[in-house]
Amino acid sequence: MTDTSPLVLVVNCGSSSLKFALFDLDRPSPLMSGLAEKLGSRDASIRIVFDGERSSTNLPGADHAKALAGLVAFLEGRGLLGRIRAVGHRVVHGGERFTHSVEITPEVVEGIEACAALAPLHNPANLIGIRAAREALPEARHVAVFDTAFHQTMPPSAYLYALPQRYRRELGVRRYGFHGTSHRFVAARTVEVLGLDPHDHGLIVVHLGNGASATAVRDGASVDTSMGLTPAEGLIMGTRCGDVDVGAVLYIARAEKLDIDGIDAMVNRESGLLGLSELSNDCRTLEQAARDGHAGAIEALEVFAHRVARTVGSLAMSLARLDAIVFTGGIGENSACVRAAVLTRLGLLGVELDEAANRAVPHGAVGIVSRSQHPVALVVPTDEERMIACDTATLVLDRPLAVPAVDHPIVARECARGSLQ
Ligand code: ADP
Repeated sequence: MTDTSPLVLVVNCGSSSLKFALFDLDRPSPLMSGLAEKLGSRDASIRIVFDGERSSTNLPGADHAKALAGLVAFLEGRGLLGRIRAVGHRVVHGGERFTHSVEITPEVVEGIEACAALAPLHNPANLIGIRAAREALPEARHVAVFDTAFHQTMPPSAYLYALPQRYRRELGVRRYGFHGTSHRFVAARTVEVLGLDPHDHGLIVVHLGNGASATAVRDGASVDTSMGLTPAEGLIMGTRCGDVDVGAVLYIARAEKLDIDGIDAMVNRESGLLGLSELSNDCRTLEQAARDGHAGAIEALEVFAHRVARTVGSLAMSLARLDAIVFTGGIGENSACVRAAVLTRLGLLGVELDEAANRAVPHGAVGIVSRSQHPVALVVPTDEERMIACDTATLVLDRPLAVPAVDHPIVARECARGSLQ
């Protein structure tokens, strides 16, 4: 590394939060990362991790622009500001218009605004971040990286709903899918780790976090995914119900006299692991409660795993071959229990769980968790920030980002034996 090498800042703006990470193109891990949260409230604060040191500052009443100003002052104080050549922004919904990451121009901003009807909570927050960052860093080039873009390769058979076609034409109602940046990163990493042919492979990537989705990846492209027009479809999530009979929702709405906001709250904020367990949306809390015999927690985790397995089974039908089932996200990477509960349900696909290997995957590492090799089941940690930085550097700086080496001993050993190639 030289202290003149260009830096890429990654910004991920939520409605009341701002996550960021700073990448040096010549270094495999981020130089700095942090989070400003509770923005717009008296409790707003910013936490920064830089060079292994943590700092935390209260910013009472700060909005996104003030939080970014705080970040800019921090960077200036360390002589880093002038080295930031590009900023990559996470944007949730790109509709059908954005099939790849793009440099932000006035037309792109208009396009993101036009997609806001499809993601009314997320896109406006993303735009606040874009505007504030462009003002704070006017010399840098700014890039938008969309959660939906990776799934734009899905065929109509996978993305159409059997609703009257005019809703698709007039309102853009179709399946878009989300978590695309994570699915793309993890799929590419899996191909690299297992030494698969980039032009001939089939994967199912299962991203399990607070939000959860699974994607069938064929030869590097998404061909089907579990989320839909919004992130509410598909798998059970922390507080979202995932797939549910629309008739059940209508029945509850009539019985409880719920209006649209009431239905929204029920399916997005009161359901999922929280609704099922009547205890928590947090997998770690539920696993502990299940060990203590909490019936709701046990049932919630069982239903969660069943839904993941059922979804993996149906996604497999979009592939010509199934080389690997890949777990990622906070739950997928860290919960051996959930992985085991899913994989023991997938025997029909030829998956055989390796219980010891599954329990032994180190935090943050790649690890194979099956005895079966076709398909192999494995854990691959996601890194959406790195993917965003990578797209940004490639697009506007015309150079790639350093990527951490694949150094997991299990993979290295198996590859050396040739059993995974
Ligand atoms: P988000 O979708 O908000 O990015 P994450 O990917 O960080 O969420 O995942 C959060 C989920 O991961 C929570 O349910 C949390 O309990 C779960 N999780 C994190 N670590 C563990 C662990 N060691 N065991 C089980 N679950 C875990």
